[in-house]
Amino acid sequence: MRREKGVVASSGVSFGKALVLSSARPVVSAGLISDVEAECSRFARAVEDAKAEIAQIRDRAAAKLSQHEADIFEAHRMMLEDPQLISDTSDAIKAQKLNAEVAFQQITDGFISTFRAMEDEYFRSRAIDLEDISGRVLRKLQGVVTVELSTLTEPAILVAEDLTPSQVVLVDPQMVLGFVTEKGGKTSHTAIIARMLEIPALVGVAGATGHIKNGDTLILDGATGEVVVNPDEPTLAVYRKERERIVAHKAALREFVGQESVTLDGRPVTLEANIRTDGDLKFAKKHDAEGVGLFRTEFLYLDRGTLPSEDEQFEHYRTVLSAMETKPVVIRTADIGGDKEVAYLGIPKEENPFLGFRAIRYCLANETFFRAQLRALLRASHYGNLHILLPFVTNLNEVLQTKAIIKDLKEELKREGIPFASHIPVGIMIEIPASALMSDVLAPHVDFFSIGTNDLIQYVCAVDRVNPSVSYLHTPYNPAVLRLIAQVAQNAERAKIPVAMCGEMAGTPPLIPLLIGMGLNALSMNPASILAVRKIVRETRYDEAKRLVADVLRLSGPEEVRELLESRVDLV
Ligand code: PEP
Ligand code: MG
Repeated sequence: MRREKGVVASSGVSFGKALVLSSARPVVSAGLISDVEAECSRFARAVEDAKAEIAQIRDRAAAKLSQHEADIFEAHRMMLEDPQLISDTSDAIKAQKLNAEVAFQQITDGFISTFRAMEDEYFRSRAIDLEDISGRVLRKLQGVVTVELSTLTEPAILVAEDLTPSQVVLVDPQMVLGFVTEKGGKTSHTAIIARMLEIPALVGVAGATGHIKNGDTLILDGATGEVVVNPDEPTLAVYRKERERIVAHKAALREFVGQESVTLDGRPVTLEANIRTDGDLKFAKKHDAEGVGLFRTEFLYLDRGTLPSEDEQFEHYRTVLSAMETKPVVIRTADIGGDKEVAYLGIPKEENPFLGFRAIRYCLANETFFRAQLRALLRASHYGNLHILLPFVTNLNEVLQTKAIIKDLKEELKREGIPFASHIPVGIMIEIPASALMSDVLAPHVDFFSIGTNDLIQYVCAVDRVNPSVSYLHTPYNPAVLRLIAQVAQNAERAKIPVAMCGEMAGTPPLIPLLIGMGLNALSMNPASILAVRKIVRETRYDEAKRLVADVLRLSGPEEVRELLESRVDLV
């Protein structure tokens, strides 16, 4: 038995066999062959196997996700039927006596660089598809088993160097019992998705893919951040009890379904869900969300090869708005960049993606892209209670520019006779210190604020939110962060606009009384946290909470703040 330490990304306890994912790309070595015909048949078999594998994924995507995702895989399969790709490779095998791996890699690399150099975005994104397909065929040729997270047949705890948000999106929660990764932070999008799926996860477990072997029995402790490798029976028994306790606690919270989120002295606090796709609405419903406080639309752009069209976006937004009926739905315009890379957009690699060409910066520089999304949103506003949220705002200019585009699009829709809601509130994310400090200046120009603490903490404390080595500094208990939030809330109140919070902090139970005291009107969170937060709202008095704010803001460090706040609420 051995214990390894990481950072808790999603709480809970899980047990299971390890499945270690190797992220190594197949390395192809040159070798001349003598039997040309045998090599051509080996190549043909590998292509057939790869096609069969892709067809399986396509069918699974159709069943679990949508026809659109299925079509992407169908397009991959069809690319492997391209006669030129196949005949060029066979010709290279025959003429140069190359082994199939080298021949196929040479041919696909040629196509990939041609596509990459093209002006047209559609062709540039074909390069990514081709890379994916090429890797799959090479792995078949080398007999490397590809682990498809969407088609696991036995439950396992995944151990990987890192997992991208798009990989995690595809996992089947019945089959994936937990995640252990070497990289990533607790507010990385991979961690956020794990919490939504209620799958325990640890990040920052150094060397995990080396120390942990396939088939090892693991216990994942989502309280202490430990992973126990090959535990003995007494340890297993302790954790079984702990898991029972957690399950019982979750069951007890169901009592709060249907109850109002209001303090003991009558102040309402709206508790909303953060979602990534219309598919996540089921989580919002399950945990009785009072609205959608953050729809991270960039996930519509991930995990595919081309841009979603205006019509396709419209359908997604309309689905969410209609499903939520009159409840508020805050849809955030695309926050591309940072740890949400959209490869087919061809944004050059950046030294500091979190300080780079991200979110509204990208959108305002690519107006066609931005206008398509905003038009889809305006059209969808007719079907529900839409609020538009602008991410990553640094200055007033960005707000004014966006509002001018929205105004222009409304006129366009009017001319075309397309209906849209008469009032669509436009708010901004406060997640950059500059906009927090200027919130008094920004407030009169917007209809609401939503504080994004995942980024705000990152920038206030100069701590990369996905770097496990510094994650101990990424804490919402830091008084510097709290002072800034209090200031933003005060500026919102003075301007008489509502202020919400949609970072992970908003779903952190010990902080809830403090946020109520600061005057937050809405808290939007991972749906799995809503009922625990509702319980605390209903146990809090607003007048006492205001006094708590004054006490907390006098404290000097995160440890003192955490100690005081944790002593006031029942933790699981
Ligand atoms: C945040 O920064 O707190 C936030 C909600 O946005 P995201 O996590 O998507 O960057
Ligand atoms: Mg953010």
